[in-house]
Amino acid sequence: MRIFRNLLLSAALAVAVAPAHAEEGEHWRLFVADHGESVVRAVDLADGAVVGTFELSAPARLYRTESERTVFAVQRDADAVSVIDTGILLEDHGDHADLDVSAPRLLEATVEGDRPVHFVAHDGRVALFFDGEGVARIVTEAALLDGDANPAEISAEAPHHGVAATFGDHILVSVPNPDDPTELPIGIQVLTGEGDPVGGVHACPGLHGEAASGSMMAFGCEAGLLIVESGDDAPSVRLLPYPDDLPEGKTGTLLGGVALRYFLGNYGPDAVVVVDPSEEDAFSLVRLPARRVDFAVDPARPRFAYALTEDGDLHKLDVMAAEIVATAAITRPYSMDGHWSDPRPRIAVAGDEIVLSDPLAGVLRIIDPETLQETRRIDIDGMPYNLVAVGGSGLHH
Ligand code: ZN
Ligand code: ZN
Repeated sequence: MRIFRNLLLSAALAVAVAPAHAEEGEHWRLFVADHGESVVRAVDLADGAVVGTFELSAPARLYRTESERTVFAVQRDADAVSVIDTGILLEDHGDHADLDVSAPRLLEATVEGDRPVHFVAHDGRVALFFDGEGVARIVTEAALLDGDANPAEISAEAPHHGVAATFGDHILVSVPNPDDPTELPIGIQVLTGEGDPVGGVHACPGLHGEAASGSMMAFGCEAGLLIVESGDDAPSVRLLPYPDDLPEGKTGTLLGGVALRYFLGNYGPDAVVVVDPSEEDAFSLVRLPARRVDFAVDPARPRFAYALTEDGDLHKLDVMAAEIVATAAITRPYSMDGHWSDPRPRIAVAGDEIVLSDPLAGVLRIIDPETLQETRRIDIDGMPYNLVAVGGSGLHH
């Protein structure tokens, strides 16, 4: 039913041409945060070897940058964001990529402030939002690798659970609810690179959740998605309203398609919504058989995404057809009753493998995306929880 006119012909379709003297290699590395301990482990996917253990100040949520050169460990309860050099250096040489693998290391430079939560890496910079201050700190990977975070700061009107993102030369920042800043933000303000407002507030009551796909960004609002695209002088922003035929609900967590321009969002406890902003009929609801634990898009097989439900089943979603095409039982049940931050599995996709953290079993489960069968396990000390995968293939000259 949906056509997806905006196939992004990106890295996924590039073919590497190998000079005769070079060796082709592939390397994937996982960064795994413990649920209760303030520790992040780096694990090489091929052999399961722990190649780094990093002691932090609080349990972390992990995010990777666009280059995959660094992983950010956001420690909300320690008022700090630490940065790990992944040791994976992928360099575009035009007709091929170079891959250089070294040991991961914790960088000395950190970004500090009151209650960091949302992280957005976009257009070459990273925006960290510190809820306790209502301040966004914008940093570059290059400065951090050089040893000095040197953040640019953008202050909102009040402390709030907010978000910021760089968009080309501009900055997008959430606008707190003027009646009660402890409620979710009411919209997005576009700023110049110097921090001056451009136009008025783009209304997005109940703002939560953000993602980028191709050159487009989206934010979740009560009434729909706020879509940001490149404009003539400044980003163009529009609301894509939820259609009347969707049930009551909203999306508050968004992922962006890679190599295929779409967004995948949560929608109520037991569904996800596929959004193609270029289509008249932009929203497609996919109901899941049980409540959703986590979901992820597949960067290597752009047509597919995965969702784990609380019964322990992993579902493969065809986002173009907006339907579940395969299901397999993977973990014990993980009930969604209880606290939102109880230990439950998280999904990452690493090249030709899906990795599922199974915190109560103390393992990473490695799953074949074609068959959804578990092919092997990697034992991890403690309770493996949040995780990201970095890596790829390239030449060693
Ligand atoms: Zn090269
Ligand atoms: Zn949030």
